Amino acid sequence: MQKRWLVVGGGTAGCVVAARLSDVATYHVTLVEAGDGQGGRLDGASSLADLAVASGVWPSLQAYVQGRGLGGSSRVNGAVLSGDGLDLLPADTVTDAELGPVDRALLAASPDARPAVLARRQGRLLSAHDIYLAPVRERTNLDVVSGAEVRAIRFDGSRAVGVTLADGGVIDADAVVVCAGAVHSPVLLMRSGVVAPGMGEFADHPSRVIDLLLDRSAVVGDDRLVTGAVLRRSGTEIVPLNHVGAGAPGRGALVVGALRHRRRGRVTIDGDVRLSFDPLDPDDATALGEAVTLAVNLLDSRPFRGVVAGWRITDAVGYFHAAGSCRAVVDTDGAVAGHEGLYVADSSALELPASGLYAPTVALASRVASTLAS
Ligand SMILES: Cc1cc2nc3c(=O)[nH]c(=O)nc-3n(C[C@H](O)[C@H](O)[C@H](O)COP(=O)(O)OP(=O)(O)OC[C@H]3O[C@@H](n4cnc5c(N)ncnc54)[C@H](O)[C@@H]3O)c2cc1C
Repeated sequence: MQKRWLVVGGGTAGCVVAARLSDVATYHVTLVEAGDGQGGRLDGASSLADLAVASGVWPSLQAYVQGRGLGGSSRVNGAVLSGDGLDLLPADTVTDAELGPVDRALLAASPDARPAVLARRQGRLLSAHDIYLAPVRERTNLDVVSGAEVRAIRFDGSRAVGVTLADGGVIDADAVVVCAGAVHSPVLLMRSGVVAPGMGEFADHPSRVIDLLLDRSAVVGDDRLVTGAVLRRSGTEIVPLNHVGAGAPGRGALVVGALRHRRRGRVTIDGDVRLSFDPLDPDDATALGEAVTLAVNLLDSRPFRGVVAGWRITDAVGYFHAAGSCRAVVDTDGAVAGHEGLYVADSSALELPASGLYAPTVALASRVASTLAS
C-alpha cells in the first residue's frame, strides 16, 4: 500500500517537494494548488492588474505581491538568483548583448555592479514548475489538483489526516506538507488550530523603489530583460529595472534593499488575511537610508546622464521576501511540533537570509523533502 502524501500549495517549494516525494515508488503524492494549473512564467503581464486577471497573484494582497498558480511566486518574481541553493537551479549569467540601458548605466557607474544571474535556460526565464514539476507531471503516483483552495488541515487527535477545501471537499492523506508560502502557510496552520507564540511573525528586507523617468533614447520594449545587472555592496543591493511593462511606458526603476537587515511584520486573520509591518528599528532605517543614498549618488553620476531624465523615491516596498512566519512551530526538518504527519517546507520555515529567497526556498524544500523521502 502506497503512503499518501498531500502537498498544500504548488508554488516554488511545493513543486520541489511534489517532484522529490514522487521519486519514491511507494509514495502517492497529491499536490493541491489554489490558482491555475498552467505553471509557466507570467512575463507577458504588464501590470499587477493583468497578473490578478490572469490569477497569477493573490488579488487581496496587491500591495504585497504573492504569486498564485503552479509555480507560485517563482512565476512572477525577478528570477535573480543569489544565496544558498544556486546549484539546484539552472543559473545563467546575462550576456553583454542582453543588457538594457539602466543595467549598462549601473555597471558603468559602480565597480561593484555585475551582470545578473537568472533562473533560465536558453534565454527563457523558468518557474519552479518549469524546472521541477513539468518533467515529472506524467508520473502515475503524482496527482496535481489546481483551482482548489485548502481551507484547513484535518486531524485525528494530533495526527494530520488530510485537508478540507474551501468548497467543502475533503482529501484524505497519511501526511501533509504545507507549502502555501510565507503569507498563507501560517494562515492555514492557524485556521487549523496550530498556534504558538510568534506564529505568523515574519521578516523581510527593508527596501524602497526609486521610480525612473527614462530618457527617450533609453526606452526599450517590454520584450527585453527587465533586470540584467545587480549591485551588491556591504549588504546593500540595487536592482535596476529597464522597463516596468507596457502599462507604464518610458519608466524604469532602481529597487534598493538592505539585505543584512530585517523589516518585521505579522500575518493575522481578521475575517480575511491581514499583513502588518512594524516600524523599522533605528539601525535598520539607517541601513536603508544609506542604501537609498548610494542609489541617489549613482543616479547623479555621469553614466546615468542621458539614460534617466528624472527620478522619485517612492514609499513602495521593493522586495517581497517574507520569511519565517511558521518558524515558531517547525523544527529544522520541517516537522510541526506536537503533531504527527505534518510538515512545513517553504519560505515560512526559512530564516531570512541576506540574499534573495528563490534559491534558498528551493534549497530548504529540497532538504526537507529528501529527509521525508529517505
Ligand atoms: C514579485 C516578486 C519578486 C521576487 N523576486 C525575487 C528575485 O528576483 N530573486 C529571489 O531570490 N527572490 C525573489 N522573490 C522571492 C521568492 O520568489 C519567494 O520568496 C519564493 O518564491 C517563495 O516560495 P514559496 O514556495 O515559499 O511560496 P510561493 O512560491 O508563493 O508558493 C505558495 C503557493 O501556495 C499557493 N497557496 C497559498 N494558499 C493556498 C491554499 N490555501 N490552498 C492551496 N494553495 C495555496 C499559492 O497560490 C502559491 O502557488 C520575489 C518574490 C516576489 C513575490
